[in-house]
Amino acid sequence: MLILGLQKTTLLDYPGKIASTIFTGGCNFRCPYCHNRDLVFPPKDVFSYSNEEIFEHLKSKRKVLDGVCITGGEPTLHKDLPEFIKQIKDLGLLVKLDSNGTNPKMISSLIDDGLIDFVAMDIKHSKEKYNSIACMPNYDIAPIEASVELLKEDKIDYEFRTTIMKECHSAEDMLSIGKWLEGAKAYYLQSYKESEQVINPIFSPHSVETLKSFVEILKPYVFNTQLRGVD
Ligand code: SF4
Repeated sequence: MLILGLQKTTLLDYPGKIASTIFTGGCNFRCPYCHNRDLVFPPKDVFSYSNEEIFEHLKSKRKVLDGVCITGGEPTLHKDLPEFIKQIKDLGLLVKLDSNGTNPKMISSLIDDGLIDFVAMDIKHSKEKYNSIACMPNYDIAPIEASVELLKEDKIDYEFRTTIMKECHSAEDMLSIGKWLEGAKAYYLQSYKESEQVINPIFSPHSVETLKSFVEILKPYVFNTQLRGVD
């Protein structure tokens, strides 16, 4: 595991829980809007946490924490993630995994082995336009589709989520995504926030009114569609 960040306590990252968030380094996507540039392209001399440091913290706080959120980068790129999570579960903590959905095999075995309790999976775009966002023009989205179907089996709690940008996402795209995710448990639209810290600052947000209209388009397909982080 390459662990590049630790937020010791958060009430935001794991819905309804007090959690610590662990940030893994490296990602197989290059989303221009990504706020975690230093996790996707870690500097050579980057500081990383040892597993010992992480578990020292978790052990000392296990009585106040409900769980741990593991985010990235893309955590499932790390082959030792299951073993790492097993040690967290041995402390009696819940585990939420944030993922871009590119490794359905690992997600499936984590679910079957009872190692994760919640998955938040990114949906970058409609199937037709997926690669325009991930900047991986030749990427076959079959693993993403498999992860969607896997989570829709409802074996554990989950949500889908999309960062929405004016230059990328239209009402027609929402309709296409809605048909794809039909019957899902929860879907959150997150407005893009302009920042110089993203990988490539070329996008801008939609108006709140447009975002609300997108929610109405999606609700017939995913009843629990909501805006997140929109004032
Ligand atoms: S947004 Fe997520 S999937 Fe995209 S580059 Fe950043 S960490 Fe990777």
